[in-house]
Amino acid sequence: MTIANIAGRRIRIRGTVQGVGFRPWVYRQARRAGVTGRVRNDARGVSIDAFGDEAALGRFVDALGIDLPPAARIVEMACVEIPAEAVAEFAIVASAADEERRVSIPPDLATCDACATEIVDPRNRRYRYPFTNCTNCGPRFTIATDIPYDRAATTMARFEMCETCGREYASVDNRRFHAQPNACPNCGPRLTLADALGRSVACADVLAEAARAIQQGQIVALKGLGGFHLACDATSREAVQRLRSRKHRDEKPFAVMVADLAAAHECVVIDDEARRLLTSVERPIVLLPDVETSAIAPNVAPGNRLLGVMLPYTPLHRLLLADAGRPLVMTSGNLSDEPIAYGNDEALARLGAIADLFVLHDRAIQTRCDDSVVAMVVGQGVLIRRSRGYVPRPIALRSVVSRPVLGCGGLLKNTFCLVAGDSAWFGPHIGDLENVDTYEAYVEGIERLERFLQIAPAVVAHDLHPAYDSTNYARSRAGAIAIAVQHHHAHVVSAMAEHQLEGPVIGVAYDGTGYGTDGTMWGGEVLLATEAAFERLATFRPVALAGGDRAIREPWRIALALMVDAYGPDLPADALALFAHVPSREIESIRTVLQARLNTPLARGVGRYFDAFGALFLRRTRASFEGQTALEWNQAADARVSRGYRFSIDASARVPEIDLRQALRDAIADAAAGAPVSAVAAAFHNTIVEATASVVRRAAARVGQVPVVATGGCFQNARLAEGVRAALEPEYAVHLHAEVPPGDGGIALGQAVIADAILRSR
Ligand code: ZN
Ligand code: ZN
Ligand code: FE
Repeated sequence: MTIANIAGRRIRIRGTVQGVGFRPWVYRQARRAGVTGRVRNDARGVSIDAFGDEAALGRFVDALGIDLPPAARIVEMACVEIPAEAVAEFAIVASAADEERRVSIPPDLATCDACATEIVDPRNRRYRYPFTNCTNCGPRFTIATDIPYDRAATTMARFEMCETCGREYASVDNRRFHAQPNACPNCGPRLTLADALGRSVACADVLAEAARAIQQGQIVALKGLGGFHLACDATSREAVQRLRSRKHRDEKPFAVMVADLAAAHECVVIDDEARRLLTSVERPIVLLPDVETSAIAPNVAPGNRLLGVMLPYTPLHRLLLADAGRPLVMTSGNLSDEPIAYGNDEALARLGAIADLFVLHDRAIQTRCDDSVVAMVVGQGVLIRRSRGYVPRPIALRSVVSRPVLGCGGLLKNTFCLVAGDSAWFGPHIGDLENVDTYEAYVEGIERLERFLQIAPAVVAHDLHPAYDSTNYARSRAGAIAIAVQHHHAHVVSAMAEHQLEGPVIGVAYDGTGYGTDGTMWGGEVLLATEAAFERLATFRPVALAGGDRAIREPWRIALALMVDAYGPDLPADALALFAHVPSREIESIRTVLQARLNTPLARGVGRYFDAFGALFLRRTRASFEGQTALEWNQAADARVSRGYRFSIDASARVPEIDLRQALRDAIADAAAGAPVSAVAAAFHNTIVEATASVVRRAAARVGQVPVVATGGCFQNARLAEGVRAALEPEYAVHLHAEVPPGDGGIALGQAVIADAILRSR
């Protein structure tokens, strides 16, 4: 080839293009188009230098947007001319070590169609092989032991590839070219079956045997991708009840795994976006409206109109679901609030009292990673737990941080987040930092992600709450600057970061609780925020939590406090009648407690208002998990009701307060006049929406029409999110979360960005 006829192009591609078979795919496209050059990973994605005549280059560039490898996603593609080089071939080249490292470990990928076909083909050598994978699919993050990501640095290192697998791995034309976990029945990991005491159970086919046990109503502990699941027949009320009582989980919903989309359609209502999410390579649990005629036992998600559904994401799950022939409950293998079990011995020890049978294997899980959970809000998926399938995929930031930062997260649903350069990496879901095991998982998780990403944080950002374990952890980090960040500010900046907003924004941060700068508990906050600072524009009138945290488990106590606040000490009969389900002795004692202000911390959480109204009108005495009453109150709302109740905004308070006392009186009168609970619930939601919109408009009159972000756990509530957006658009751009959880699982990102901004402004 003479250089006179050829031209050069540099093509930079950003997106999910690493660890997903993208470079071999580019290689094949290059050969097909007849161009030479090279492809390499760089810090942001993939960079290609291509050389050839104009026609060939045109063919090549055109090919790069179509028929991508299944797990790849292109966010941005830029193409510039570069001087031609006389190179003879197209090559996949290694990258600069530092850059390669930081991006080398991709998230775990659900089984691709090609592999799925192989495992059900009796003529294929991987027929029914549960560890089948290829460059387009399979375990990644959960098996990585070190960096850079290659076989020696995974828990597959101990399995030596057989000749056939080795050939696949070495051949650039093969789907398994450089598939690090490549394996087959001859050389790869194997399943074993054990009873509850860990004794091995002899059988011809482990998964067929496990499926049979499940069909008979037994509970099977299953070693999956990021940890153990507990599986049982989701159509059997008895099996589900057995699992609930053994796991000590009263009413909290279980997720269900179904064999395929057709089976999913029988349980839940699926729109296009839900279908996309269910079949995505990330394969999250998606919360969807249940179908009335569904075969799912009612105690899988009692009192809940949404069902968490996912499709199989490993060959093991696919085979089991096919064998079982019915939907299965798939819940984390743990006892109530402990971290998910992920080692064979650990699982036998911890789950022996729950499971009848164990499906084990000899491919170790290096990093535990729970299933991710997505809620549908305004027709869009919102991650409410970001873990398996998403971690450690980075989130692109608006600008570069001045030094690496660790965001430590909060207390509940903890995740941590590392920020360096212009990227942020969330760690896997850790859970509620309330016991020793969880704390250990937290510390270990941070150390590992820092090592994988080669990030040594100079700054450690933590919640303002002085007593959180995450706060203590941050302060214990020697050599790093610890910066305290207010909880709701962190929520707002997480949303800003996700949408690459510079600020100022009006941040609507509604959740249950968060420590305020005045030492009291905040919870329904409207902030004017930049990355470095915030001003409180409005909050909610505080409510008294009689008995402290007990009031969260027994939300009727909050309802009573609200009522005393709304009517004064002499409650009208209409109002008191709503407490008919609570023993009058208890009512009297709480009224005394409220009057004397004994152990009645004040709270401003919007979540508490949901709890209180729900407890009152649904006649709920206790919640078996945090937020249960709020959730039921939300689901009770009739979408057709558009009226709201009256509210006021008390501008004389130091921070203007949204006052819902009149709304409560209206609601009680409404119910007394015969309004159905569904209408009261809807009017309550509409009231919160209208109050929020009115606060935002008042603020905008002073600060200008800046973008609005809606964040905090309450915005998992689709009705609230949709309402706020509809009330403010199109005058305001209203941003909701998508990839970053609106709840406390998302605050670590905001913490990190804020800490950096504070240090830069000093
Ligand atoms: Zn595959
Ligand atoms: Zn093999
Ligand atoms: Fe929060």
